[in-house]
Amino acid sequence: MSVFTNVLKQIKQAANHSSIPPSIFEQLKNPERILQFSFPVTMDNGSVKVFEGYRVQYSSARGPYKGGLRYHPQVNLDEVKALAFWMTVKCAVVGVPLGGSKGGVKVDPKKLSAGELERLTRALTRRLALFIGPQKDVPAPDVNTTPEIMAWVRDEYEKIVGYQEPAVVTGKPLNSGGSQGRVLATAQGGMYVLQELVNKLKIKPKQTTVAVQGMGNVGGIMAQLLYQAGYRVVAMSDSSGGIYNPRSLDVPAAEKFKKQNGSLKNFPNTKAISNSKLLELPVDILIPAALENQITDKNVSRIKARVIFEMANGPTTPEADIKLAKRKIIVVPDVLANAGGVTVSYFEMVQNLQQYYWHEGEVMTKLKPIMIQAFKQVWQRAEQLKLSLRTAAYVIAIERIAQAIEARGKY
Ligand code: GLU
Repeated sequence: MSVFTNVLKQIKQAANHSSIPPSIFEQLKNPERILQFSFPVTMDNGSVKVFEGYRVQYSSARGPYKGGLRYHPQVNLDEVKALAFWMTVKCAVVGVPLGGSKGGVKVDPKKLSAGELERLTRALTRRLALFIGPQKDVPAPDVNTTPEIMAWVRDEYEKIVGYQEPAVVTGKPLNSGGSQGRVLATAQGGMYVLQELVNKLKIKPKQTTVAVQGMGNVGGIMAQLLYQAGYRVVAMSDSSGGIYNPRSLDVPAAEKFKKQNGSLKNFPNTKAISNSKLLELPVDILIPAALENQITDKNVSRIKARVIFEMANGPTTPEADIKLAKRKIIVVPDVLANAGGVTVSYFEMVQNLQQYYWHEGEVMTKLKPIMIQAFKQVWQRAEQLKLSLRTAAYVIAIERIAQAIEARGKY
């Protein structure tokens, strides 16, 4: 399944509902630049392994390229292109002055030692260095990449250029120029959007059941925040499988259990379920917060949730999207739901460039209105044009990107 083919369908659909000129539509169909890397890393046993990676710089119309860097065995160019386009849309939906990019290395980081991971990151940075920078392209954490990895990118980059440049990468640890609230930002941004949606639907957290797929920086924190806000989180999972209790789960205890035991397996008073079964549970809200292509033509008819709240990037395929819309299942798209992460990445760049750092409260006070406004604009446009929230978000984003392209003039 080509994820980028899905993207092209999404762009076409949005273009049909907006009045952007055909030449701009043509420009949006391909990334501005694709970088492909190959680099050697010395492993702990002395052998040398060659790794492959990509950086796709999709659009710089609205600002420097911006987007995460993922380490995953299934990374491929098609996927990275799609992810880079989604970053472009995401930044436009929340209105931060950034373009879109994404990078990835084909590697299973769980099989590397800490030393190997650091050497791999530094080797990658040496390949990337010419093409990144605060006014060029700014990487950030994504699947399997951490604040520590971002600190290595910063350090290696600064060794190459010979000056301090913390804004070359975001999602750094606090003691390496990171922003307060960045780790929390994606999940917290999602909560701000969810709160607005819940108000619209007039549902009460205490009566609302939720299933969360994924326990990383996004799914894990989101489950905690939902639990704290009084939602009934009934299912959670990590990459090896999940747990289910139709009444509700003690999320903090489950997190602790996973930390101690490495997985959720055998967590008391729960039934073990697979990741695919989690998606089909009879819940009010389903939150995919792991990888793309989870809700597809194959399983969409078995989805029972009333709302799909996409904290992962690209979890729903276009075919599934159409069928969900027919069944009046609300899909809150990734480019809106998880945009809190890149918004605080933008705040991190601003703080780095100003050498002036904010408190967590200040970060959240600035994040909240951005997320709420983006939700309201998308909701309103969806109602106006009788479109899904996703297509409405794309229409808004594509119009903004088109305006930025046009403002630059023809060349
Ligand atoms: N990887 C995150 C995303 O997909 C964050 C990107 C960023 O902060 O640049 O939105």
